[in-house]
Amino acid sequence: MNKQQLNDISLQKIWIGELKDIDFLVYGHEFTVFNDVEHFFSAFEAQSHFPLIVFADNIVNQGEALKKIRKHELLWQSCILVNTPCYLSEALANGLFNKQSDDFYNSVITRATSLNLSLNLVDSALTKLLSFMWIYKDNSLLPVHDLSINSVYYYPFLECFGVNTKDAMSWLSSIHRRKLLQTDKLIDRVRYCRHCQSGHLNYVDSCPSCQSIDIASVSSLHCFNCGHVNGESKFKEGIGLSCPNCHTKLRHIGVDYDRPIENQKCNQCHTSFVDADVIAKCFHCQTSNQVDELIVQNIHSYNISMEGKSLIRLGERFDNFNLTSTDSINYSHFEWVVKWQNQLAVRHQQTHSIVKIELKNLAQFIAENGEARAIQLIDEFESRINESIRTTDICCLAGEHTLLLMLPNTTIEHLSFVYQKLKGISLLNKNSDFSLSIKGIPLPSKEMPDEIGVWLEQQFAAQQESVL
Ligand SMILES: [Zn+2]
Ligand SMILES: [Zn+2]
Ligand SMILES: [Zn+2]
Repeated sequence: MNKQQLNDISLQKIWIGELKDIDFLVYGHEFTVFNDVEHFFSAFEAQSHFPLIVFADNIVNQGEALKKIRKHELLWQSCILVNTPCYLSEALANGLFNKQSDDFYNSVITRATSLNLSLNLVDSALTKLLSFMWIYKDNSLLPVHDLSINSVYYYPFLECFGVNTKDAMSWLSSIHRRKLLQTDKLIDRVRYCRHCQSGHLNYVDSCPSCQSIDIASVSSLHCFNCGHVNGESKFKEGIGLSCPNCHTKLRHIGVDYDRPIENQKCNQCHTSFVDADVIAKCFHCQTSNQVDELIVQNIHSYNISMEGKSLIRLGERFDNFNLTSTDSINYSHFEWVVKWQNQLAVRHQQTHSIVKIELKNLAQFIAENGEARAIQLIDEFESRINESIRTTDICCLAGEHTLLLMLPNTTIEHLSFVYQKLKGISLLNKNSDFSLSIKGIPLPSKEMPDEIGVWLEQQFAAQQESVL
């Protein structure tokens, strides 16, 4: 880690709101105190991307203040602790302020430091979310219930990180499909209007024949003698029952009469029926939806998955591959260099090598050995590569966990020194599943086509790999 990053992560403790006498005695000397949220935003100068921010009791609009900090370009990763929970604190804060807060804050700083995420790379909601969930271990992405919005539920974190509430569900499901998040708890199941996606629906029972909602339950009887059906009151005569149509005395249910199963009646078209239709009328756009046509959405809380951890921990790590002794270039630039070096090699009768090094079973390695070991492995890999290459060599990251090296004036036979260096990675020898695959191809090639990428792929596919 360089100095700049160390400064970024230096501790900074902020207290917002009234600092009571007892608080002052205990923490007063450690905190920079701001009277209220407005004061904080007008006067605060961030020296740290990971300040500890404590909200005192009785902060006005604490929920809005939480959102404002999480939306802030420099402060979104802040460790925010509250004295009084509010409707958003479970979703957006990091817990209650208490005696263990200092230990908690220190552990956050340790994790943030080891993530080594370069802040200017953090432009996407996904990177923000994954790194936040990684730094604040066990932090779940929680939905919050809000009747003022059509979707009824929303994810405050996603909103703060720039994902539109309208798009949040599809955004989440695509991240979930990529296995970067895993579902935690099923919080609720909501049905939405087909027309406007509002969750504010009124379920009304209505007449299956004319759709009127003017229906009522009726209690009727059915005479076995003549088949007459009518309301129960029409059958009453004295103390017993008799049919108003054929005047037969009805004594025993099941023998003389029964109750028809149609026990509901429409007051508009007078149809009798058993089951009313249920329609879901949208409070928002007035559309009448059939219930089975509504959009059904499960609302989950989410955790970061193993793949998500690996991406944020190692994906970023790989993007920031710290190969000090050589130039790291992008893939299209690498293709160009290969073509150019090939032409030079043909002209000057030189011999070069291109080496492809692939880390295999890395995800499994992390699952079995933990991230700390994986980072150790990558660090060691990195320093071995640094030891084996010269300033004239050119390096390129070609996809996940794959490195391409262009080694000028090196024959394939001379590659063994690279292999020897890499063989020394101590973790390789202790773990049988994890391995390095190395392949080398020689230059020049007289039949190199314009499609360098395809050519490289074919050449490497035809080579025997050395597995370390
Ligand atoms: Zn009707
Ligand atoms: Zn009758
Ligand atoms: Zn609607």
